[in-house]
Amino acid sequence: MINLYGLTLDKLVELMLQEGQTKYRAKQLFTWIYEKGVTDFDEMSDISKAFREVLKEKYCLEKPKVFIKQIASDGTIKLLLEMEDGAKIETVLMRYNYGNVACVSSQVGCSMGCSFCASGLLKKQRNLLPHEMVGEILVLNDLLKESNERVTHVVVMGTGEPFDNYDNVMDFVRIVNDQKAFAIGARHITVSTCGIPDKIIKYGQEGLQINLAISLHAPNNELRNRIMKINKAYPLEVLIPAVKKYIELADRRVTYEYIMLKDVNDSLECAKELVELIKPTYAYVNLIPYNPVDEHGYQRAENSKVKAFMDYLMKHGVTTTIRKEFGTDIDAACGQLRAKNQRG
Ligand code: SAH
Repeated sequence: MINLYGLTLDKLVELMLQEGQTKYRAKQLFTWIYEKGVTDFDEMSDISKAFREVLKEKYCLEKPKVFIKQIASDGTIKLLLEMEDGAKIETVLMRYNYGNVACVSSQVGCSMGCSFCASGLLKKQRNLLPHEMVGEILVLNDLLKESNERVTHVVVMGTGEPFDNYDNVMDFVRIVNDQKAFAIGARHITVSTCGIPDKIIKYGQEGLQINLAISLHAPNNELRNRIMKINKAYPLEVLIPAVKKYIELADRRVTYEYIMLKDVNDSLECAKELVELIKPTYAYVNLIPYNPVDEHGYQRAENSKVKAFMDYLMKHGVTTTIRKEFGTDIDAACGQLRAKNQRG
């Protein structure tokens, strides 16, 4: 069974042509699926009965099952979703004043091995397929429908490394962005990577206006090697030129994410090194308050340190923001709900 939620319009057209149907048929189907939100082929009244039978036999429109739903006092929704094969993944909805932001997982588990992250407590089992990532948005939209709302922004910042699942993530992003599907503007979509240079460049060549965030977290190789395993494969002298190339290709600014870890990377010396490192790139910095993960032993930096760090960056011409926190009364940190659940 092919799950039609995983197909971009181009791929659906290709499939319909293989089925002996027309391009128009693909567009009709796409409208039923996304504009009308129909999940039963029999409701697709302008499609012949004979072809509806073919659809029923070979294709499906299945969404993931909600295994656990947590709602925080600030309205954050955290879901543990169950896929067809029983794999569990996390999806989070954050309510910013500018919209409803879905934080989407791209893999089941993660093998990037960042030393501070809860997602890596469970190694990668497999990549998520486009229909599973689309399913994350569909389930959230179903929940939001009750209050006449929908997902307005998407960040691929849940469990997994999106650039280790590049093609599936790009199909997902295209479906999210498609005017005839979710119609979420490219500037409202962000993909976050721990830093895989060849994919960063490829992403720059896509001709999409989607945002790119780089999880930097350290301003030098010595420190980055210690906290992010990926830096050993792709050290800063390889990563930063790739980011520069991306900026040239896409003509877009990037965001560096930087988790503030107490006594690890929160000194003014680090701020100084960071400014030097990223100066040649056109970038923002987003300072992230650390969500403590019991197993890792890191602590969040003190507020005064975060403020001093930010002031230093701003004074040196780097636009800096501090990430707002959500859902602190539920298992909000990346991968925490899933890790807790699977450890029993
Ligand atoms: N693999 C991708 C996307 C998933 S992680 C990446 O590395 O960017 C999304 C962001 O959450 C990354 O910046 C990651 O470093 C950060 N993160 C991971 N664990 C965290 C924690 N415990 N507290 C705060 N941020 C965390």
